[in-house]
Amino acid sequence: MRAGDGPRLATDRPGAPVYSAAMTHVFVAPHPDDAALSCGGLIASLRELGQNVTILTVYSGSGEANGLTPYQREALGFGTKALWPATEAFNRAHLAADVPLLGEAEAPPPWAADPDRLEATQADADTAAKRFWQRASWYRRASIRNESLAGQLVIDELPTQGAVLGTEIVQAASAGDIMARRRLEDERFAYFAEASVVFLDLPDAVFRGYEGDAELFGLPRDGDSPPIELLRREILRLEPQRVYFPLGVGGHVDHRLVRAVGMALLAEPRAWIMPGPDWAGIVTFYEDFPYAWWSGFGQLEDLGDGFFGELPADVSLSPEFAEIGDQLERKIRGIALYESQLEGLFGGLRPMAEAVRAFGLKVAELGGVPGFAERYWSTTRI
Ligand SMILES: [Zn+2]
Repeated sequence: MRAGDGPRLATDRPGAPVYSAAMTHVFVAPHPDDAALSCGGLIASLRELGQNVTILTVYSGSGEANGLTPYQREALGFGTKALWPATEAFNRAHLAADVPLLGEAEAPPPWAADPDRLEATQADADTAAKRFWQRASWYRRASIRNESLAGQLVIDELPTQGAVLGTEIVQAASAGDIMARRRLEDERFAYFAEASVVFLDLPDAVFRGYEGDAELFGLPRDGDSPPIELLRREILRLEPQRVYFPLGVGGHVDHRLVRAVGMALLAEPRAWIMPGPDWAGIVTFYEDFPYAWWSGFGQLEDLGDGFFGELPADVSLSPEFAEIGDQLERKIRGIALYESQLEGLFGGLRPMAEAVRAFGLKVAELGGVPGFAERYWSTTRI
Protein backbone atom coordinates (compact mmCIF):
# COMPACT_ATOMS: atom_id res chain seq x y z
CA MET A 1 0.00 0.00 0.00
CA ARG A 2 1.12 3.48 -0.69
CA ALA A 3 0.44 6.18 1.88
CA GLY A 4 -2.94 7.79 1.47
CA ASP A 5 -4.55 4.80 -0.19
CA GLY A 6 -6.96 4.27 2.66
CA PRO A 7 -6.60 1.70 5.41
CA ARG A 8 -3.13 0.33 5.68
CA LEU A 9 -2.80 -3.39 5.59
CA ALA A 10 0.83 -3.66 6.44
CA THR A 11 3.68 -1.29 6.74
CA ASP A 12 5.29 0.60 3.93
CA ARG A 13 8.57 -1.06 4.71
CA PRO A 14 10.17 -3.37 2.17
CA GLY A 15 8.71 -6.83 2.19
CA ALA A 16 5.25 -5.67 3.15
CA PRO A 17 2.58 -7.18 0.91
CA VAL A 18 1.04 -5.05 -1.79
CA TYR A 19 -2.59 -5.63 -2.70
CA SER A 20 -4.32 -4.34 -5.76
CA ALA A 21 -8.05 -3.86 -5.92
CA ALA A 22 -10.48 -6.76 -5.82
CA MET A 23 -8.09 -9.61 -5.34
CA THR A 24 -9.51 -12.88 -4.09
CA HIS A 25 -8.02 -14.42 -0.96
CA VAL A 26 -8.82 -18.00 0.00
CA PHE A 27 -8.14 -19.13 3.56
CA VAL A 28 -7.93 -22.89 3.84
CA ALA A 29 -9.06 -23.84 7.34
CA PRO A 30 -8.67 -27.41 8.57
CA HIS A 31 -11.61 -26.88 10.95
CA PRO A 32 -14.42 -24.42 11.45
CA ASP A 33 -12.69 -21.69 13.55
CA ASP A 34 -9.11 -21.94 12.25
CA ALA A 35 -9.39 -18.98 9.86
CA ALA A 36 -10.89 -16.77 12.57
CA LEU A 37 -8.33 -17.86 15.15
CA SER A 38 -5.23 -17.53 12.99
CA CYS A 39 -6.14 -14.97 10.34
CA GLY A 40 -9.00 -12.92 11.80
CA GLY A 41 -7.00 -9.71 11.75
CA LEU A 42 -5.86 -9.99 8.15
CA ILE A 43 -9.34 -11.02 7.01
CA ALA A 44 -10.79 -7.87 8.59
CA SER A 45 -8.09 -5.73 6.92
CA LEU A 46 -8.69 -7.28 3.53
CA ARG A 47 -12.41 -6.66 3.73
CA GLU A 48 -11.78 -3.04 4.68
CA LEU A 49 -9.73 -2.80 1.50
CA GLY A 50 -12.57 -4.24 -0.53
CA GLN A 51 -10.83 -7.55 -1.24
CA ASN A 52 -12.76 -10.78 -1.60
CA VAL A 53 -12.32 -13.38 1.11
CA THR A 54 -13.44 -17.00 0.99
CA ILE A 55 -12.91 -19.49 3.77
CA LEU A 56 -12.53 -23.08 2.65
CA THR A 57 -13.22 -25.30 5.66
CA VAL A 58 -11.94 -28.80 4.99
CA TYR A 59 -12.72 -31.14 7.88
CA SER A 60 -16.20 -29.92 8.73
CA GLY A 61 -17.94 -33.26 8.40
CA SER A 62 -18.88 -35.93 10.88
CA GLY A 63 -18.80 -39.18 8.94
CA GLU A 64 -19.64 -41.86 11.48
CA ALA A 65 -22.18 -40.40 13.85
CA ASN A 66 -21.88 -42.99 16.60
CA GLY A 67 -19.20 -44.53 18.69
CA LEU A 68 -17.28 -41.43 19.74
CA THR A 69 -15.36 -41.73 22.95
CA PRO A 70 -15.47 -38.94 25.52
CA TYR A 71 -11.95 -37.98 24.47
CA GLN A 72 -13.06 -37.55 20.89
CA ARG A 73 -16.07 -35.47 21.89
CA GLU A 74 -13.80 -33.26 23.90
CA ALA A 75 -11.33 -32.95 21.05
CA LEU A 76 -14.16 -31.56 18.95
CA GLY A 77 -14.71 -28.91 21.57
CA PHE A 78 -17.78 -30.36 23.16
CA GLY A 79 -18.40 -31.68 26.57
CA THR A 80 -15.52 -29.96 28.26
CA LYS A 81 -17.88 -29.30 31.12
CA ALA A 82 -20.40 -32.07 30.98
CA LEU A 83 -18.28 -34.85 29.54
CA TRP A 84 -15.05 -35.55 31.26
CA PRO A 85 -12.49 -37.74 29.59
CA ALA A 86 -12.54 -41.34 30.73
CA THR A 87 -10.73 -41.08 34.01
CA GLU A 88 -8.81 -44.30 33.54
CA ALA A 89 -6.28 -42.07 31.81
CA PHE A 90 -6.01 -39.87 34.87
CA ASN A 91 -5.61 -42.61 37.45
CA ARG A 92 -2.55 -41.59 39.40
CA ALA A 93 -1.71 -45.21 40.07
CA HIS A 94 -0.59 -45.42 36.44
CA LEU A 95 1.99 -42.70 36.88
CA ALA A 96 5.43 -43.64 38.04
CA ALA A 97 7.23 -41.18 40.28
CA ASP A 98 9.81 -39.40 38.15
CA VAL A 99 12.11 -38.58 41.06
CA PRO A 100 13.25 -40.85 43.84
CA LEU A 101 11.52 -40.36 47.15
CA LEU A 102 13.37 -38.16 49.57
CA GLY A 103 15.95 -39.51 51.92
CA GLU A 104 16.11 -38.19 55.46
CA ALA A 105 19.13 -36.00 55.04
CA GLU A 106 18.10 -34.36 51.79
CA ALA A 107 16.38 -31.02 51.75
CA PRO A 108 13.14 -31.08 49.78
CA PRO A 109 13.39 -29.69 46.25
CA PRO A 110 11.81 -26.26 45.75
CA TRP A 111 8.70 -27.65 44.09
CA ALA A 112 7.92 -30.14 46.86
CA ALA A 113 5.12 -29.27 49.22
CA ASP A 114 5.90 -29.21 52.91
CA PRO A 115 3.18 -29.94 55.49
CA ASP A 116 2.47 -26.24 56.06
CA ARG A 117 1.97 -25.59 52.36
CA LEU A 118 -0.22 -28.64 52.04
CA GLU A 119 -2.34 -27.42 54.91
CA ALA A 120 -2.65 -23.98 53.33
CA THR A 121 -3.66 -25.55 50.02
CA GLN A 122 -6.25 -27.71 51.78
CA ALA A 123 -7.66 -24.60 53.47
CA ASP A 124 -7.89 -22.89 50.06
CA ALA A 125 -9.63 -25.92 48.61
CA ASP A 126 -12.14 -25.93 51.48
CA THR A 127 -12.88 -22.26 50.99
CA ALA A 128 -13.34 -22.75 47.27
CA ALA A 129 -15.58 -25.75 47.82
CA LYS A 130 -17.74 -23.83 50.27
CA ARG A 131 -18.05 -21.01 47.79
CA PHE A 132 -18.97 -23.41 45.01
CA TRP A 133 -21.60 -25.21 47.09
CA GLN A 134 -22.87 -22.07 48.80
CA ARG A 135 -26.45 -22.60 47.72
CA ALA A 136 -26.58 -25.94 49.45
CA SER A 137 -26.72 -26.47 53.16
CA TRP A 138 -23.76 -28.81 52.81
CA TYR A 139 -20.68 -28.92 50.66
CA ARG A 140 -18.34 -31.50 49.24
CA ARG A 141 -14.97 -31.29 50.83
CA ALA A 142 -12.13 -31.87 48.44
CA SER A 143 -9.19 -33.64 49.98
CA ILE A 144 -6.00 -32.65 48.27
CA ARG A 145 -4.17 -35.55 49.87
CA ASN A 146 -6.14 -38.34 48.26
CA GLU A 147 -7.29 -39.47 51.68
CA SER A 148 -10.73 -40.82 52.28
CA LEU A 149 -13.18 -38.39 53.87
CA ALA A 150 -16.21 -39.75 55.69
CA GLY A 151 -15.60 -43.18 54.28
CA GLN A 152 -15.86 -42.17 50.61
CA LEU A 153 -13.75 -43.97 48.08
CA VAL A 154 -10.86 -41.91 46.80
CA ILE A 155 -10.31 -41.40 43.09
CA ASP A 156 -7.63 -44.07 42.72
CA GLU A 157 -10.03 -46.68 44.08
CA LEU A 158 -12.87 -45.56 41.87
CA PRO A 159 -11.72 -45.49 38.26
CA THR A 160 -14.94 -44.17 36.82
CA GLN A 161 -15.28 -41.27 39.20
CA GLY A 162 -15.75 -38.06 37.32
CA ALA A 163 -17.16 -39.61 34.17
CA VAL A 164 -20.57 -38.06 33.66
CA LEU A 165 -22.19 -39.88 30.81
CA GLY A 166 -25.88 -39.38 31.27
CA THR A 167 -28.08 -40.47 28.40
CA GLU A 168 -29.29 -36.98 27.64
CA ILE A 169 -25.73 -35.69 27.32
CA VAL A 170 -24.76 -38.48 25.00
CA GLN A 171 -27.83 -37.82 22.89
CA ALA A 172 -27.31 -34.07 22.79
CA ALA A 173 -23.67 -34.48 21.85
CA SER A 174 -24.28 -36.84 18.99
CA ALA A 175 -21.67 -36.35 16.34
CA GLY A 176 -23.92 -34.87 13.71
CA ASP A 177 -25.11 -32.20 16.09
CA ILE A 178 -21.57 -31.29 17.02
CA MET A 179 -20.42 -30.69 13.48
CA ALA A 180 -23.66 -28.98 12.50
CA ARG A 181 -23.17 -26.56 15.34
CA ARG A 182 -19.56 -25.94 14.39
CA ARG A 183 -20.52 -25.26 10.77
CA LEU A 184 -23.17 -22.85 11.98
CA GLU A 185 -20.55 -20.99 14.00
CA ASP A 186 -18.37 -20.82 10.89
CA GLU A 187 -21.29 -19.40 8.91
CA ARG A 188 -21.94 -16.79 11.57
CA PHE A 189 -18.28 -15.81 11.47
CA ALA A 190 -18.34 -15.56 7.69
CA TYR A 191 -21.38 -13.31 7.90
CA PHE A 192 -19.68 -11.20 10.56
CA ALA A 193 -16.44 -11.01 8.54
CA GLU A 194 -18.23 -10.40 5.22
CA ALA A 195 -16.54 -13.44 3.78
CA SER A 196 -17.94 -16.46 2.02
CA VAL A 197 -17.43 -19.95 3.34
CA VAL A 198 -17.24 -23.29 1.56
CA PHE A 199 -17.52 -26.52 3.55
CA LEU A 200 -15.80 -29.56 2.13
CA ASP A 201 -17.24 -31.72 4.92
CA LEU A 202 -14.48 -34.29 5.04
CA PRO A 203 -14.74 -36.09 8.38
CA ASP A 204 -12.75 -34.55 11.23
CA ALA A 205 -9.79 -36.65 12.44
CA VAL A 206 -11.72 -37.96 15.41
CA PHE A 207 -14.32 -39.36 13.00
CA ARG A 208 -11.50 -41.04 11.12
CA GLY A 209 -10.60 -42.89 14.28
CA TYR A 210 -7.79 -40.77 15.71
CA GLU A 211 -7.95 -41.16 19.47
CA GLY A 212 -5.92 -39.51 22.19
CA ASP A 213 -3.44 -36.64 22.02
CA ALA A 214 -0.63 -38.80 20.70
CA GLU A 215 -2.62 -39.72 17.61
CA LEU A 216 -4.49 -36.46 17.11
CA PHE A 217 -1.24 -34.48 17.27
CA GLY A 218 0.85 -37.08 15.49
CA LEU A 219 1.62 -38.09 11.94
CA PRO A 220 -1.19 -39.04 9.57
CA ARG A 221 -1.86 -42.75 9.32
CA ASP A 222 -1.00 -44.71 6.22
CA GLY A 223 -3.82 -44.29 3.78
CA ASP A 224 -5.05 -41.06 5.37
CA SER A 225 -3.81 -38.90 2.55
CA PRO A 226 -4.04 -35.15 2.06
CA PRO A 227 -7.09 -34.16 -0.02
CA ILE A 228 -5.02 -32.71 -2.84
CA GLU A 229 -7.39 -33.23 -5.78
CA LEU A 230 -10.44 -31.97 -3.94
CA LEU A 231 -8.73 -28.85 -2.66
CA ARG A 232 -7.00 -28.03 -5.93
CA ARG A 233 -10.32 -28.22 -7.74
CA GLU A 234 -12.09 -26.02 -5.21
CA ILE A 235 -9.27 -23.49 -5.12
CA LEU A 236 -8.97 -23.25 -8.90
CA ARG A 237 -12.70 -22.69 -9.10
CA LEU A 238 -12.34 -19.63 -6.85
CA GLU A 239 -9.44 -18.22 -8.94
CA PRO A 240 -7.65 -16.64 -5.99
CA GLN A 241 -4.56 -14.47 -6.14
CA ARG A 242 -3.60 -15.76 -2.71
CA VAL A 243 -4.31 -19.01 -0.87
CA TYR A 244 -3.46 -19.31 2.81
CA PHE A 245 -2.58 -22.71 4.27
CA PRO A 246 -1.75 -23.56 7.90
CA LEU A 247 1.89 -24.05 8.81
CA GLY A 248 0.79 -26.88 11.05
CA VAL A 249 2.21 -25.43 14.26
CA GLY A 250 1.17 -27.79 17.05
CA GLY A 251 1.09 -30.76 14.72
CA HIS A 252 -2.66 -31.50 14.66
CA VAL A 253 -3.05 -34.22 12.07
CA ASP A 254 -5.74 -32.33 10.13
CA HIS A 255 -3.53 -29.25 10.02
CA ARG A 256 -0.60 -31.35 8.79
CA LEU A 257 -2.74 -32.82 6.01
CA VAL A 258 -3.97 -29.42 4.87
CA ARG A 259 -0.41 -28.08 4.93
CA ALA A 260 0.63 -31.06 2.83
CA VAL A 261 -1.86 -29.96 0.18
CA GLY A 262 -0.19 -26.54 0.03
CA MET A 263 3.19 -28.24 -0.30
CA ALA A 264 1.89 -30.53 -3.03
CA LEU A 265 0.61 -27.56 -5.02
CA LEU A 266 3.98 -25.84 -4.64
CA ALA A 267 5.73 -28.98 -5.86
CA GLU A 268 3.72 -29.09 -9.07
CA PRO A 269 5.90 -28.01 -11.96
CA ARG A 270 4.61 -25.02 -13.85
CA ALA A 271 1.78 -26.50 -15.75
CA TRP A 272 3.25 -26.83 -19.24
CA ILE A 273 0.83 -29.58 -20.12
CA MET A 274 -2.34 -28.33 -18.55
CA PRO A 275 -2.92 -24.60 -18.23
CA GLY A 276 -2.66 -23.63 -14.61
CA PRO A 277 -0.99 -21.17 -12.28
CA ASP A 278 2.42 -21.36 -10.67
CA TRP A 279 1.41 -21.84 -7.07
CA ALA A 280 4.57 -20.18 -5.78
CA GLY A 281 3.58 -16.61 -5.01
CA ILE A 282 -0.02 -17.68 -4.52
CA VAL A 283 0.39 -20.20 -1.73
CA THR A 284 1.02 -18.48 1.60
CA PHE A 285 1.26 -20.04 5.04
CA TYR A 286 -0.29 -18.81 8.28
CA GLU A 287 0.65 -19.57 11.88
CA ASP A 288 -1.85 -21.76 13.69
CA PHE A 289 -3.27 -19.97 16.70
CA PRO A 290 -3.53 -20.79 19.58
CA TYR A 291 -0.97 -23.57 19.10
CA ALA A 292 1.67 -21.05 18.05
CA TRP A 293 1.03 -19.10 21.24
CA TRP A 294 1.06 -22.10 23.54
CA SER A 295 4.21 -23.54 22.03
CA GLY A 296 6.11 -20.25 21.90
CA PHE A 297 6.51 -20.64 18.16
CA GLY A 298 9.09 -18.17 16.88
CA GLN A 299 10.73 -19.45 13.73
CA LEU A 300 10.11 -22.05 11.03
CA GLU A 301 12.85 -24.27 12.49
CA ASP A 302 10.57 -24.73 15.50
CA LEU A 303 8.26 -26.84 13.33
CA GLY A 304 10.90 -29.51 13.51
CA ASP A 305 8.78 -32.26 11.97
CA GLY A 306 10.02 -32.57 8.47
CA PHE A 307 8.59 -29.24 7.42
CA PHE A 308 11.61 -28.40 5.32
CA GLY A 309 11.54 -31.91 3.92
CA GLU A 310 8.08 -31.22 2.54
CA LEU A 311 8.97 -27.81 1.16
CA PRO A 312 10.08 -28.08 -2.49
CA ALA A 313 13.76 -27.26 -2.88
CA ASP A 314 13.14 -24.40 -5.32
CA VAL A 315 10.65 -22.59 -3.11
CA SER A 316 11.71 -20.08 -0.49
CA LEU A 317 9.61 -18.60 2.26
CA SER A 318 9.71 -15.06 3.57
CA PRO A 319 7.81 -13.52 6.46
CA GLU A 320 5.17 -10.84 5.98
CA PHE A 321 3.69 -9.00 8.91
CA ALA A 322 0.12 -7.76 8.76
CA GLU A 323 -0.46 -4.98 11.26
CA ILE A 324 -3.73 -5.73 12.98
CA GLY A 325 -3.87 -3.09 15.72
CA ASP A 326 -7.02 -1.55 14.23
CA GLN A 327 -8.60 -4.97 13.70
CA LEU A 328 -7.64 -6.61 16.98
CA GLU A 329 -10.94 -6.14 18.81
CA ARG A 330 -12.81 -7.20 15.70
CA LYS A 331 -10.70 -10.34 15.56
CA ILE A 332 -11.60 -11.07 19.19
CA ARG A 333 -15.30 -10.55 18.52
CA GLY A 334 -15.04 -12.90 15.56
CA ILE A 335 -13.41 -15.67 17.57
CA ALA A 336 -16.02 -15.20 20.29
CA LEU A 337 -18.64 -16.40 17.79
CA TYR A 338 -17.19 -19.92 18.14
CA GLU A 339 -18.93 -20.47 21.44
CA SER A 340 -18.43 -24.22 21.43
CA GLN A 341 -14.66 -23.80 21.32
CA LEU A 342 -13.96 -21.02 23.80
CA GLU A 343 -14.14 -23.01 26.99
CA GLY A 344 -12.11 -25.93 25.72
CA LEU A 345 -9.42 -23.89 23.99
CA PHE A 346 -9.02 -20.96 26.35
CA GLY A 347 -11.18 -21.47 29.42
CA GLY A 348 -13.57 -18.69 28.45
CA LEU A 349 -14.04 -15.43 26.61
CA ARG A 350 -11.78 -13.25 28.68
CA PRO A 351 -8.71 -15.53 28.61
CA MET A 352 -9.26 -15.89 24.85
CA ALA A 353 -9.14 -12.10 24.41
CA GLU A 354 -6.03 -11.91 26.55
CA ALA A 355 -4.32 -14.66 24.55
CA VAL A 356 -5.18 -12.98 21.22
CA ARG A 357 -3.77 -9.66 22.41
CA ALA A 358 -0.66 -11.17 23.95
CA PHE A 359 0.08 -13.22 20.84
CA GLY A 360 -0.51 -10.24 18.52
CA LEU A 361 1.89 -8.21 20.60
CA LYS A 362 4.52 -10.92 20.55
CA VAL A 363 4.31 -11.35 16.77
CA ALA A 364 4.58 -7.59 16.27
CA GLU A 365 7.71 -7.56 18.40
CA LEU A 366 9.17 -10.42 16.39
CA GLY A 367 8.79 -8.36 13.23
CA GLY A 368 9.67 -4.99 14.68
CA VAL A 369 6.18 -3.85 13.75
CA PRO A 370 4.30 -1.40 15.98
CA GLY A 371 1.26 -2.60 17.92
CA PHE A 372 -0.17 -5.99 17.05
CA ALA A 373 0.48 -8.26 14.10
CA GLU A 374 -0.14 -11.57 12.41
CA ARG A 375 2.73 -13.18 10.53
CA TYR A 376 2.41 -14.91 7.18
CA TRP A 377 4.96 -16.76 5.08
CA SER A 378 4.84 -16.01 1.38
CA THR A 379 6.39 -18.28 -1.23
CA THR A 380 8.74 -17.51 -4.09
CA ARG A 381 10.17 -19.81 -6.76
CA ILE A 382 13.94 -19.40 -6.75
ZN1 LIG B 1 -7.94 -26.74 13.65
